[in-house]
Formats: sequence, structure tokens, C-alpha cells
Amino acid sequence: MSQQPPAPADSGGEFLHDFLLDSARHTPDAPAVIESAQAGRTTVTTYAELSALVDTYASDLDALGIETGARVILESDTTAPSLAMLLACSRAGLAFVPVSPEVPQQRLVSILTTARPALHLQAADGTREDIPRPVGTARFGPAGLTVTRAPAHRRPRRRVPCVTDPAYIIFTSGTTGRPKGVVMSHRAVVAFYRGMLAHRIATPEDRIASTSPLQFDFSLLNIGLALGSGAAVVPVPQGLVRWPRHLLRVLRETGATQVNGVPSIWRQTLRYEPERLAALDRLRGVLFCGEEFPLPELRRLRQLLPHARIINCYGATESMACSFEDVPHPLPETVERLSIGVAHPGAEMLLIDEAGEVVDRPGVPGEIHLRSPALFSGYWDDPEATRAALVPDPLCPQSGQYVLRTGDLAVQGEKGEFYFCGRTDSQVQINGNRVELGEVERRLTEFPGATAATAMALPRPGGAGLQLTAFVVLAAQHATADAADLRDFCARTLPPYMVPQDIRWRDSLPTTSNGKVDRAALAEGAQTDL
Ligand code: ADP
Repeated sequence: MSQQPPAPADSGGEFLHDFLLDSARHTPDAPAVIESAQAGRTTVTTYAELSALVDTYASDLDALGIETGARVILESDTTAPSLAMLLACSRAGLAFVPVSPEVPQQRLVSILTTARPALHLQAADGTREDIPRPVGTARFGPAGLTVTRAPAHRRPRRRVPCVTDPAYIIFTSGTTGRPKGVVMSHRAVVAFYRGMLAHRIATPEDRIASTSPLQFDFSLLNIGLALGSGAAVVPVPQGLVRWPRHLLRVLRETGATQVNGVPSIWRQTLRYEPERLAALDRLRGVLFCGEEFPLPELRRLRQLLPHARIINCYGATESMACSFEDVPHPLPETVERLSIGVAHPGAEMLLIDEAGEVVDRPGVPGEIHLRSPALFSGYWDDPEATRAALVPDPLCPQSGQYVLRTGDLAVQGEKGEFYFCGRTDSQVQINGNRVELGEVERRLTEFPGATAATAMALPRPGGAGLQLTAFVVLAAQHATADAADLRDFCARTLPPYMVPQDIRWRDSLPTTSNGKVDRAALAEGAQTDL
């Protein structure tokens, strides 16, 4: 990421596979995927090899005669074959639904019931069994596709794929507990990739380590960033991401120049292996996304990687992401909140207040609404949820244009840059006072020795109303902090009702399968460790 890369080439097509395989035509011998193998070796798949594998898989899929537009579950980690397979689905006019091998059977069945796919695909060494009929099953490996149960409903009639067709569907947890499928069209994902590549985040020489599971759209962002720049993807095996020595070994062996992941991937490494991290002299870039990076940890990362460009990427699955903002270098002690910048070229973030009016003064909070060509099409089979998220453009409701209502609160700075301030649903009421949990968390992480913190409104013991509970992680050398000191510290800048009454010290914060703080697990744990 050190030198300025050339402007992205005008890709030949608007379908996902055309766009991402463009480099295969220009630089067929360049590495497209670099994987860490046994005994310190790496396996390199060139663009030409990747493209040949896509051809093989696409013709195998074609031979199955599945109806154009049908869904295909792609259960895999990120690997060269799984990457080829998702591109092959795109070429064959099928929408892929990425699922991680770690997904519990019950959740997979729930996705199958909702998405009604024609086929379940897994890698040759996948261990998933008991895929309910009538879903067909197949495995993919270097030689092609092995069908273990033919898809039931074969329809010889095919139609011409259209760029507004779904390229993929990502199932997120959803607040109801029922999986919510975010449907993304070819046109939207390619528009997003174009907007992202305009930020010139990678050069063809880059090797971009992707630490997210395939089912999380952050992995598709990384794939688009790497292949769209003619660079290489370095998939970090999911089992190794949380183990600092293994993670650092993979980064070293593969010569990774950029590491992309949620903030929590750095927590253990910063704590236990800072010297080894600082010794990664090829590392020039870090891109994080998904949640706020606790500032004490970010400052530490900044110190250890003084030559790295660190990018704060903000956005939701419903638009893959929407902004890319460089973290200041140096990061002054006075900075209390990171900017998320402005939307990528071609898109615009707007702040809308509770009265539905556009906020145009700095410092006044509003909900981020995104105008963009990269918006999702809707939630799979859920028109009601779709209507709540895709709303008429507040600038001109008559136009028939829809924008994404994000549920995220922000303020704008003097130069129009945005500052994320939490979710609309992270505003809680404590004794009738409105509390923004993000603000409490920011103060908690300013406490000497605190590296990360989460605040939640949880039922008071005995069940009378809610109280603020804080879960706080301390650096190893501050293991003996006192809850009363922390409360005093918070009371210096926060009103009394924003000072957490209940403080729980934690060695780490639990994370979801996507690596974000798992608030549900914290709440559950709080009940049992009283
Ligand atoms: P993603 O897969 O892009 O993380 P999700 O749909 O899982 O998307 O979650 C999106 C939400 O995560 C956003 O609406 C926002 O609340 C939060 N988020 C994402 N990126 C950031 C960021 N850089 N800073 C703060 N919050 C973020």
C-alpha cells in the first residue's frame, strides 16, 4: 500500500465474475490466492489457474441444469477453490449463499428452509452431513464437482441473467432470531467495488490477508479489493485467527502486506505478541470494519506499525460497506472519536433527525441514510423488513428512489466528515434518562489501563428496572483496578445516570462468529457470574 496504484482498469463487465476476473486477462501469471500450507510452505494460485478452475466449476454447474437464479449454498472457508466456486456460481447465473463450516446444523437447516436452495456445495474435505431433501448435494475439489445427490427440480428452461439478479444472499442473525437474508445484486456489488477501488487501497503487489469467515460480507469485500486491484488474497484459516502466534506466522509466511478484519482480531496479539507484530516489516496496511476500534488498542497498533496505513471502513451488509477513512497518523491523544469520513465516490450519507428533516449543522446527531447504487435489493422473502430499511429518499420522496435507513447515529464535523455515535437501538433509558451506550463505552476506555469496554442496560438484580453494567478489559499490567475508582473516573465527565453501577472485569470480550462483541453472550454471562 506504499505507492499510489494505478486507477482501476475499466472492467469488461457488470457481473461479479466478469469484474473480478478482469486481472486474469491482464496478469494471468500474477498470484490471485496465496495460502499457508504445511511446514512453512505456501500454495500460490495464479489468476490463470483461478480462471481455469472457474471454467471447470461453471461448466459442471451448467451440466446440472439448475434453473437460472436458483440459490446455491456454498459452505466453506475462504480458499482458492471456494473463491473459484463463488465466481462460477456468478457465471452460471446462480446466487450463492456463503455459509461457514462452523455454522450449527440447526441454523443451517433454518437457512435452507428460508432460502430453498437447489444445491448445497461443500469442499471435498467438508464434514457436513444430513442435508435435508430435496436439496441436491455436491463437493468441489481441484478436479471439479462431485455430485452426491442430484438437485431435485431440474428445469431445462433457462433465462438470460441480468445484472439486477441476485449475485449472493448473506444471512445475518436478525433481531427476531430468524435468519435475515440480505440480497445483493451483481450491479450493486460491482458498484460497491468500483467505489471502494477509487480509494486506491491496494496495488497489484499487495497480498491482502482476509481474516473474516466467508459468510461475513467482509470476506467478499476483501476478495473484491484484492482481485479488483490485481493483488492476491491471503485467506487466514478461521481456526488460526484468534491465536496470535499462528496468525503472525501465517502473515509472515505468506508475505501479507495488508491485514483486514474486525478490531477484535488484534486484541490478543497486542496483548501477548507486540514484538512479533512489530517485526512484520512487510505489513503496510490494516483495514478494519464492523465496529468501533477501542482507541487504546488502536493507539497501540498505530505505535507498533508506524509505517502502516490504517483504514476505518464503515458500513453494513446491506451495502457491503460505505466509507473508507484513513486513521490519522500520528493519532493524537486528544482524539476522542474516529471519523468514518464520507461515503465512497458515487454514494452519499445523509443525516436525518427524528422529525424526518435533513440535518445540515455540524455536531447535531441524526440517523445515517445512504443514497447509493450499491444498495441491497431487499431482505429475502421479507417485504416488511425491506420496507423498514429501504425508505423513500428524504431529499425527494416523489422520485421513487429508495435509500438505506441504517439505524446508525452520527454527527458531522466542520468539514462534513461523519462520526459514528452508536445505533439507534443502543440508546437506552435509565431512570427515564436517555443514555447513549457508545458514549459510556468511550469514557470507560479512557480509564488508565482499560483496553476495551462494553456497556449494556441490564435488569437490576431483583428485577426492578434497568441498570448500567460495564464489561471492561484491562491491560495485563493493570490487573488490580478498583471498580470504585472507575466509577469516580466516569463521574468526572458523565452525569450520574450514565455512570455504570455494575462493573465486571473481563480478560477478554466474547465475540460472535463474525468477530464482533457478542452482547448477548455478555448479558447471559452477567446473570450467571453474580
Ligand atoms: P458489516 O458486515 O459490514 O459489519 P453488519 O451488517 O454486520 O455489517 O453490521 C453493520 C453495523 O456495524 C453498522 O450499521 C454499524 O452499526 C456497525 N459498524 C460497521 N462498521 C463500523 C465502523 N467502522 N465503526 C463503527 N461501527 C461500525
